[in-house]
Amino acid sequence: MKILVVNAGSSSLKYQLFDMDTESVIVKGGVERIGIRGSVLKHKSGKGEKVIEKDMPNHKVAMQAVLDVLVDPEYGAIRSMSEIDAVGHRVLHSGGDFDSSVLLTDEVLQICKKNAELGPLHMPANILGIEACKEVMPDTPMALVFDTAFHSTMPPHAYMYAIDYDDYKNYKIRKYGFHGTSHKYVSQEAIKYLGGKAEGTKIITCHLGGGSSISAVKDGKCVDTSMGFTPLAGVPMGTRSGDIDPAVLEFLAAKKNYSILDCIEYLNKKCGVAGVSGVSSDFRDLTKAAAEGNGRAQLAIDLFVYGCKKYIGAYAAAMNGVDCLVFTAGIGENTWPVRKAICTDMDFLGIAIDEARNEMKNDGNIHDITAPGSRVKVLVIPTNEELVIARETKDLLN
Ligand code: ADP
Repeated sequence: MKILVVNAGSSSLKYQLFDMDTESVIVKGGVERIGIRGSVLKHKSGKGEKVIEKDMPNHKVAMQAVLDVLVDPEYGAIRSMSEIDAVGHRVLHSGGDFDSSVLLTDEVLQICKKNAELGPLHMPANILGIEACKEVMPDTPMALVFDTAFHSTMPPHAYMYAIDYDDYKNYKIRKYGFHGTSHKYVSQEAIKYLGGKAEGTKIITCHLGGGSSISAVKDGKCVDTSMGFTPLAGVPMGTRSGDIDPAVLEFLAAKKNYSILDCIEYLNKKCGVAGVSGVSSDFRDLTKAAAEGNGRAQLAIDLFVYGCKKYIGAYAAAMNGVDCLVFTAGIGENTWPVRKAICTDMDFLGIAIDEARNEMKNDGNIHDITAPGSRVKVLVIPTNEELVIARETKDLLN
């Protein structure tokens, strides 16, 4: 069975074609600058990279270009579009309407459109990707896999905000959580590593990348997560503030003559480790600058580390303990000094890492960095959100 995974952004469209008999990627690539001058498709196959520069004014043209390259006799992987059994789309927000992935119908698409206001940065683009795909492959079944779905098992006391109950009911203002496919994948991999039985496990998954979130996963189910109504909440991120006293908004608006939209844009794009350091949102730049003596770069790293430690402590309390800590995504998989800093002085929780193993390079497999005698297993697990989307699409099809 062949499944195409599509992840559409506002000006981009990434894809991977999976052979689900072996769960391997046959070809993958992405279109950048859709609707902007200089659109380009970069396609990677066993034969190398093919770069196609052509005008792609909208997602439909981009999707058609992807299908054309997939059937290209030289760089493609299939003879005709009919070899694609199904398409799995990454969608940001289920709006609480879906607890798991769903097959696309007109009704499902209408619900997604209704929920677009809950994810204004991503949802319109996700919907464009779905519609473009429907137009160019009208007879192929499609599944929607939501970033929020894994968090739908949170109990009300974890997802509710302490606001007027009617506003929660009328406007769906609550915590949803994001990066769900990643938290799901790495927690399931951790459960396999720990022996295969979900019952009784207490896992804290740290997805630390450009955006970061931490989840508490008990018995294989998410019971809390650090992102909230939007992906702005939680630990400090590359350019996002993470948790902040909301009263800052009014003060900031007055001082800088900002509208409420300006304030949100500021918290999303001008804050986080980039705002604190004044250096970069990228941890490779930050660790280099800090090593060269840049105090603000070090401060930004310290703030990030401290934010992660506090969530780990909170989630150990939420689950009455923790027996496995997982690191994943760009920083979690690669930036070993950050893993080391987060795990330092955590022995009260039973967390201790083996420093030499922690410093070993990520080789794409599960990497156990637990110190001998540590009560808590500490694992580095490369995330694979596309594989989760392909698996869920296959399951729905069957
Ligand atoms: P996102 O997908 O949210 O944009 P990633 O998961 O790719 O983000 O993570 C990006 C972060 O990971 C950056 O801060 C980057 O510095 C850090 N990082 C550190 N080492 C690497 C590496 N070898 N490859 C990719 N990202 C890395």
